[in-house]
Formats: sequence, structure tokens, C-alpha cells
Amino acid sequence: MKHKILETLSQYWGYTSFRLFQEEAILSILDDKDTVTILPTGGGKSVCFQLPALISDGMAVIISPLISLMKDQVDYLKDMGIAAECLNSSLTVKARQTVVEKVRAGTVKLLYLSPERLMLDHTVELLKSVKLSFFVIDEAHCISHWGHNFREEYRQLGLIKQEFKNIGVHAFTATATVAVQKDIVEQLNLDTPHIYIGNIDRPNLTYRILPRSGHVLGQIVDVINKHPREPGIIYCLRRTDVDSISQKLTALGLRNLPYHAGLPDAERKKNQDEFSAESVDIIVATIAFGMGVDRSNIRYVIHAAMPKSIEHYQQETGRAGRDGLPADCYLFYSGGDYRIWEFMLRDSADREVLLVKLSAMYNFCVRPECRHRYLVTYFAQEYGATNCGACDYCLGEVEMAEDPLLIGQKIISCVARVQERFGADHLSDVLKGNRTAAVERWGHEKLSTFALMSAETKVFIRFMIEQLVGQGFLRREGEFMTIAITAAGHNVLKGTEVPRLAKLVVAEKKKDIEKKRRVRRTQDWEGVDETLFDILRAKRAELARKKGVPAYIVFSDKTLKDMALTKPTTIDQFAQVFGVGASKQKEYGALFVDIIKSHKQ
Ligand code: ADP
Ligand code: MG
Ligand code: ZN
Repeated sequence: MKHKILETLSQYWGYTSFRLFQEEAILSILDDKDTVTILPTGGGKSVCFQLPALISDGMAVIISPLISLMKDQVDYLKDMGIAAECLNSSLTVKARQTVVEKVRAGTVKLLYLSPERLMLDHTVELLKSVKLSFFVIDEAHCISHWGHNFREEYRQLGLIKQEFKNIGVHAFTATATVAVQKDIVEQLNLDTPHIYIGNIDRPNLTYRILPRSGHVLGQIVDVINKHPREPGIIYCLRRTDVDSISQKLTALGLRNLPYHAGLPDAERKKNQDEFSAESVDIIVATIAFGMGVDRSNIRYVIHAAMPKSIEHYQQETGRAGRDGLPADCYLFYSGGDYRIWEFMLRDSADREVLLVKLSAMYNFCVRPECRHRYLVTYFAQEYGATNCGACDYCLGEVEMAEDPLLIGQKIISCVARVQERFGADHLSDVLKGNRTAAVERWGHEKLSTFALMSAETKVFIRFMIEQLVGQGFLRREGEFMTIAITAAGHNVLKGTEVPRLAKLVVAEKKKDIEKKRRVRRTQDWEGVDETLFDILRAKRAELARKKGVPAYIVFSDKTLKDMALTKPTTIDQFAQVFGVGASKQKEYGALFVDIIKSHKQ
């Protein structure tokens, strides 16, 4: 069996080996054992159920939360010569009828359904009248309140086990928290399932977390300029931010489209489709954007503000680099983001839980340590490497403050001197030694901590205070957001705990970082003919538009990159390219070989 599944992988998908846990998940499905497979976004979950569906007797039923996701996967499978169909409300009555007939005739290998459609009586009847291989619940975290996309309809999926006894049910998700996992097993009534938990880490993503400057547009444009002609997503907190950033980028000649729930449905859909079809490369969006966007070659994700949880951050950045090629994630945060979220969450039923998640997110921002390690540890996994080589901290882009304990003690003792009754701005004035009206009114120029940090800039002092707050040594209280000392903060005063404090990056350092970045990019593209890559990319976009499918369905960037590296000039050589299976070879081989040949001349 192992041999057969590997052969199928290479024949249909054009891949030569399995990724972590794909083989295990496939064998478990073929063995009719219930499974829960948790792999990160881009980890390759689809293959885990598409492949066994293809080689099993009968039809597999795939439950998926979004119509656009279903459509893309069905297009993708059809393009590989695999009989897949979907049934959902977007089809005309006639088209639905055709699919039902195909299902009855037993010619469909994979049927995609929304959870609400599955629960209809006539769907259950239809499914009972044919031979089924197994059920798949994709994006299974939607079943759990602990996930971040709870869907009421998913709750009914427990009925599958009652209605269809003896048929395997297999759940897939990228959300690795224990609570979600437990919910999935319980809600779906899974029978002592095999559970495979892949590595949550996304080694090809480089994370950079920076304080937002007063000129966030400049920070955003900087990132875009590092990725000319490459696709990226810019996430904003509010619709108004989306509109304003989108317009400003347009004014700078950077073609982009906005996306948020306030736009008319038709326009929103059109913008998403244009992004998927590669007619536009930059999308400025609220977090409403993303679910259902499978464009695998997103090269950067920018957060113009801090998300409300690590789960959200992981999911949103997870949309970058699904093809496994390097991608950049930039987060521009400010302490104000924390307070905006705190305000927005004030009436929510799960307020306590959400605030804990929010604090973890803020801590992530202001804690200078390996970002990969923080994320992996957050999801209760071990992180092995000491240097990830793919975050601002490990790349040496973060400069650590020389004496964090002393800085911490100076600031915290100043908080004590003003009796925990003042905000961060006033505190920094006192520490800097500014004789402001407020300072003199309270007589704070007479404190022993007055001008204790006069050698530093006020901006530096503020940044240190933010880090101490985010790391839980200080805390903001009440409507005036006065700063108070926590138990951990007292430990700093005693010298038994040491904060981790970074300095702000200065211009000199920025140049150095930029130089290193260019060297890395050159290494990534070693031997690849970039002009040819662009030509191939344009061809792919054209083909995708003609077929009315997203570009990645034709070929992934990784495949194009491999083509531009190996430059095959015969059909046989073409078949060796990464991600080229039999049907792709037949459909596109001659065309691409011709392009490569004429480019070579
Ligand atoms: P997920 O659903 O886990 O987020 P996908 O199933 O969309 O991920 O897969 C992400 C990308 O990885 C796709 O482009 C897919 O074709 C590719 N992929 C999957 N399995 C393999 C493999 N064994 N070798 C190479 N690429 C793979
Ligand atoms: Mg998926
Ligand atoms: Zn790191």
C-alpha cells in the first residue's frame, strides 16, 4: 500500500515525497480508522484525504465551511483529472441535478458539501443510496467554541456517526490547542481516533514585529517595495483604515484593492476574485478577508495593527507562503492597539478568556525573543532550535538593551515613587527630567527618580515602559490608565526577575538589516532565471483567467521557480519538474516547453 500511495502522489500531484504525517493520515484513512489530523496552514492537509478518496471504492464526502473553498478545490481536482463535484447553494437547480445524477451513477470520487446541505433529508437519502468511502470534516476547528471561527452548523456534524454507521470520519484543522482537539473528538463522536499533530511551526515564514511609527504608511510601503510584483495582504483593524490605506497606496501608484464587510457583496467578491486570479497583487483588508483564499504564493502579510490573539495572528500570517517558499510577515503594533481591543471586548461574554489571549498577543509583540519559539510554545509544542534564522530577533535585527535589570528597576521604582497614580507619558517625563506643568504641579521634580534616565530619549523611556507592561511587570489600571506594579514587577525591584528589553532600531542598523536581506534573497533565487520566471507567471495568469480558476490551480510558484531553474526543453524533462503530474504534463507540457525553448534562444 505504501508503494501504491507514493506512486499515486507522483502520478497525479507530481510530488516525489510525503510531508510530515501525510502518509500516516492517508494509511489511517485507508484503514478505516477515524482520524484527527492537525497540520499547519500550508502543511498539505488536502492531499491527505484527496489521495485516499481517489484510490478507495466509493465516494468520499468532504464537508467544508466555505463555498469559495469548495469551488477552488473542485476546480483543482478536475484540472488533475480527478472526478470531484460540489453541491451547494451557489449552483443552479439544473447544475445541482447534474451532480446528483453523477453521484447516483457512481462516477464521483469526491463530493464537497457545506454542513447545512449535508443535514438536509434528501442529501442524507442520496448519500445512503450510494457507496461511500469516508467522511472528511475540513477546517474542523469550526466545531469548537474554543476555535476562532465557530460555526453553528458544524455542531450538527455529530449526526454523521449516527446516520452512517461503520463509515470512517476524518477531521482536519490547523488549530492545535488541546481544547479544540478535545471538542472535535467529542462533538463528532469519533471512535478512538488516530491523532496526528504536525509541527505547528512555519519555518519558511520570517516574522518581524515592530512598533508602529507615526507614519505607518511609510512602513507599509517599505515592505511592498521589498516585494515588487509579488502578492501580499495588508491587514488593518478597521474598515476606515482599509479605505484610507488603500486610497493612499493607489495615489502612490501601487495598484491594490480593498476588502471589508462594509463593501457591497458584489464588489467584495470581485476584489477577492481578482486577487485569486492574479490580476491584482495587493489587497488591503480587515480580517474578514482570507478564509477561502487559497492563493499559495502570497509573499508577505502585513499587520498594520495588532490582532486580538495569537490564534488570529497565526491564521492570518499562515496565509503567506503556503507553497513552502520564503515569505515575510510584518506586524506594526502600538500599545494603543491593546487598549482599542480591550475596549471592543468589554461586553463580550467570554471577556476573561479573550483578555488573556489579548495579553499573550501583546506580550508576543513586546518580548524580544525568538518569534518562532514563542508561537510554537504558545500552542503547547516544544521548539528545538536555538536560532530559527527566520525572525527579527534571531536575525540580529533586534538590539537588546545593555542593562535590562537596571532599566527595569529605575522605571519601576519611579512608578512606586509616584504612588502608582500616573500614566506612561507622565512617568517618562519624570524619568527624563522634563519640568512639565504636570511635573511641577505634583512636585515630582523633587523625587529621587526625577531625571534618573536623563541620558535617554523620552521615546526610549516610553518604549521601555511599554515592554514592561506587555511583559507583565507593570499594568495599566482604570480609565486614566495609570501604571501600577505587579508581583513580577516587585521581583524586578528585588532583582530576582529580569525583563527582556530591546532598543529601538536606529538608521545605521536598518541599512545593515537591508543588506543582509538582499543577500538572503539572492541565495533563495540562486540559479533561477528571474526573467523567465516572470514570463511563466504571466502565462499562468493568462491560462487561469481563460479557465476562470485561481492561478495556483494551474501551477504553484514553486513549480514555476523549478521550471525557471531547470529549464526543461523536452516533455520528459518537463515531467521531472516539482509539482507536475501526468495530467498537468499532458495539458501544459508542450506550451511551457515551447516558451522555455524560445526564451533560451
Ligand atoms: P492546508 O490545507 O494544510 O493548508 P494544502 O492542502 O492547501 O494545505 O497544501 C498546501 C500546498 O502544499 C499546496 O500547494 C499543495 O499542493 C502542496 N503540497 C501538499 N503535499 C505536498 C507534498 N507531499 N510535496 C510537495 N507539496 C505538497
Ligand atoms: Mg486546507
Ligand atoms: Zn527566531
